[in-house]
Amino acid sequence: MKAEHHRRTVAQRSPLKPSERAMNGVKAESLRALNLSLCLRQILAAPGQISRSDISQTTGITRATISRLIDELISAGLVTEIEPTTGKRGRPAHRLIPTPERAVALGLEVNISGLDLVLIDLAGQEIAAERIESDFAGSDPLHTMTRLAEAAHQLLATSLPEGALFLGSGLALPGLVSPRSLALAPNLGWKDIPLNVLLSPLAHVHPAIVANEADLAAFAVAHPLPGVPSGPPSFIYVSGEVGIGAGIVVDHRPVSGARGWSGEIGHICADPDGPLCSCGATGCLEAYLGLRALGQRAGLGRDTTVEEVKASARAGDLATINALTEGGAALGRCLSAVINAVDIPLVLLGGVVAELGEWLVEPAAQEIETRVLQAAWSRPRIELVPHSRHLAVKGAAHRILQRLVDDPMAWIV
Ligand SMILES: [Zn+2]
Repeated sequence: MKAEHHRRTVAQRSPLKPSERAMNGVKAESLRALNLSLCLRQILAAPGQISRSDISQTTGITRATISRLIDELISAGLVTEIEPTTGKRGRPAHRLIPTPERAVALGLEVNISGLDLVLIDLAGQEIAAERIESDFAGSDPLHTMTRLAEAAHQLLATSLPEGALFLGSGLALPGLVSPRSLALAPNLGWKDIPLNVLLSPLAHVHPAIVANEADLAAFAVAHPLPGVPSGPPSFIYVSGEVGIGAGIVVDHRPVSGARGWSGEIGHICADPDGPLCSCGATGCLEAYLGLRALGQRAGLGRDTTVEEVKASARAGDLATINALTEGGAALGRCLSAVINAVDIPLVLLGGVVAELGEWLVEPAAQEIETRVLQAAWSRPRIELVPHSRHLAVKGAAHRILQRLVDDPMAWIV
């Protein structure tokens, strides 16, 4: 035993080779990066309520190490220590908050009915927002992106706080977005556009994330505040306007598929003998529930608004009520397929689908009750998400802020 102990001691004392030293340096840096992220998450989850010793207690990291890490976050301007309040044991303790208007991100969205922009800081405060209403169906992609870029430039020029650390922008698009291209945005009429071409007008706002609008809206539901996964852990978020899409979240993480194209629930077949869809197939959910399709089926015309559909249904118009009932049943059949496949029993409805929820939920729930195998043991729930209109653009900004939360060291060093 003694000899073995001796050998081990010698080995411990032997000088490290340069490669080993480098490796230990990397490990120390990785640990520092992880711990900085951990501290920042703790502060974002309980802003104004948490102190250095609270973080030390929660994480099990020594008070001295936590203090060094917090000092780094403070000197980078990301975190501010506020006036002492009475601590748990009657001792005053400084509380920590994310510095207001310091780290900010820009969310951008192109949709059929308009362009949206929002500037959000690390505390989740909306600093400025802008919406440009117009019909972008069949629009020229570069012309539209140039309009968006001009609006972004204007918003930053007037609203970027002094001394702010601008982290970049995220863009929400209503289509299939891969890491290199926008494959298809059917309702915009955009197809096969390389992202470097599409994003070129936005270079001045550093677009770092481009994703499907339903995926980004789902991210904002899962992370109601930047860096804080306090929304429901697992759910299917259905978003609807002219198109119908979905974002799938499991354990607060988006499940976006091998190429980022998952969630195209609008093109799941509700009835092969159903109406023709804009994608060329028949009986897709979107051909029942997309606003234009719904307007046509209700006899209100393709350009109807959701308010007109609601007014017509409230007035007792049979064609409208039938179109909504069939749309709800189609939604239920398609959701049953998704729930049976992925075992996520919480459905959140947003956009037009939420606004028409009072007519859609009941027929959808009936289909789900019949078709989902697990329904007898764990009945799937359908809930409406209020004020969902700005979720995608908010999610785009939150995804950018999340990059800072995941790796604050990248912005500190
Ligand atoms: Zn389709």
